[in-house]
Amino acid sequence: MALIVQKYGGTSMGSVERIEHVANKVASFRKQGHQVVVVVSAMSGETDRLLKLAKAIDPKGSQREFDQIAATGEQVTIGLLAIALQKAGVQSRSFTGWQVPIRTDGAHMKARIQSIEPEALLAACNAGIVPVVAGFQGITDDGSVSTLGRGGSDTTGVALAAALKADECQIYTDVDGVYTTDPRVEPKARRLDKITFEEMLEMASLGSKVLQIRSVEFAGKYKVPLRVLSTFVDGPGTLITLEDNSMEDPLISGIAFSRDESQITVTGVPDKPGVAAAILGPVGDANVEVDMIVQNVGADGSTDFTFTVARGDHDKALEIIKRVAGELGAKGVAGATDIVKVSIVGVGMRSHAGIASQMFKALATAGINIRMISTSEIKISVVIDQDYLELAVRTLHKAFGLEEKK
Ligand code: ADP
Ligand code: ASP
Ligand code: MG
Repeated sequence: MALIVQKYGGTSMGSVERIEHVANKVASFRKQGHQVVVVVSAMSGETDRLLKLAKAIDPKGSQREFDQIAATGEQVTIGLLAIALQKAGVQSRSFTGWQVPIRTDGAHMKARIQSIEPEALLAACNAGIVPVVAGFQGITDDGSVSTLGRGGSDTTGVALAAALKADECQIYTDVDGVYTTDPRVEPKARRLDKITFEEMLEMASLGSKVLQIRSVEFAGKYKVPLRVLSTFVDGPGTLITLEDNSMEDPLISGIAFSRDESQITVTGVPDKPGVAAAILGPVGDANVEVDMIVQNVGADGSTDFTFTVARGDHDKALEIIKRVAGELGAKGVAGATDIVKVSIVGVGMRSHAGIASQMFKALATAGINIRMISTSEIKISVVIDQDYLELAVRTLHKAFGLEEKK
C-alpha cells in the first residue's frame, strides 16, 4: 500500500462532470488499497475571473484582499470533490489551507510555504478518509489567507507529498506528460518518459507552465518522486527524476518559450566603471527583476546597454530608466514589448560543443533575427521578435531531431 498525493488542475476540475470523473479515478486508487491525499485547483478560468473582479475596483488594491478573493476558487472545488467522492462511496473531507494548516510567509500573491503540519491529514488517512486539500493557498503568521503565485497548486501538491513522506506526487493535468515543447505550439512535440529535475527546472523557469517553478524546486530539494499525467487518458506520463547514467542522453530535451518579455535599451552611455550598477540598481530597488543583460563594446567613450524585464514591469522600469539616463548623460532610451524568449534545454549540452552554433544556424536559415543571447551550462536562450515565436519553436524542434522517436 502506497501513500500518493494527487493534484488535479483547473481543466480537470472544470465542470461537475469532470469533478465526478476525478472522484471515480480517486475511488479506483482507493480500491487498489492506496492511501490518497488529493490537492485541487479552482475550476479553469475561475482565478482569472476573481482577480478581474478585484482589479475592476482597484488594480493597485491591497494584495491581502486579492488573496482573500483569489483563494475562494479552491474552496469551492474542494467541497465539490468531497461531495462527489462521498457519492462514489469514498469517505472524504475537504481542507482549506488554514485547516491543514499550510503556513506561509507574508508575501501576498507570491507567498512561500514555510511549514505544513501533517497530523490532521494523516489522522484522516488512517481513519480511511480521503482528504481533499485546497491548492494555491496558505495562512500567514497574522492569520491572513495567502496564495502561492499563479499555478501554485502544483507547489501545494509537492509540498504536501514532502510533508507526508508520500511515495509519489502525481500531477494530473490536460496533457499526458511533459513534452519536448508545448504541444499547443508544435503538434509534433513528443512526450518524454523521463526528464531530470534540473532540466524541468530550466523548462519551468524559461516559460513552460506545465509545472510551477517552485514545485520543481521543492521536489528536487526534498527528493519527492514527481510524475505528470493526464486526467483524461491513461498512460505512464512523465517522471521527473534525478540524473542517472542509464538515462538516454539526448543533446536537447526540450524547448521552452516565454511571451512575458520586454526590453529596454539605453544608448550612448558613458563607458566607465559603475554604469551598469547605476542603471540596474534603481530597477532592482523597485523590485523589478532583470533577466538578460547585454552591454556593447564601447566605442568613442560611450556604449549601449540593453536588458529585459517581464512585460508587466516594462512601464515601471522604463520610467526609472528615463530618469537615470538623464542623470548619466546618456543619449537616449528605447523600450520594446513585442519580443519573446525561446530557449533550448538539455543536460546533454554539458558534454557537447557546437550546440549554440547549430541553434543560431537553424534560426538564420529560417530568416529569424536574434536580438539577444544568454547561455548557461544546460540552456541557451535567444530573444527574438514575437511574430517569429511559433516558427522559431518549430524550426528548433526539427533541427534538434526532437520529433523523432528515439
Ligand atoms: P493545470 O490547470 O492542470 O495546472 P496548466 O495549464 O497549468 O494545467 O499546464 C498544462 C499546460 O501546459 C498544457 O495544456 C500545455 O499547453 C502547457 N505546456 C507548456 N509547455 C509544455 C510542455 N513542455 N509539455 C507539456 N505541456 C506544456
Ligand atoms: N487556481 C490557481 C491559478 O489559476 C492555482 C493553480 O491552478 O495552480 O493560478
Ligand atoms: Mg498549472
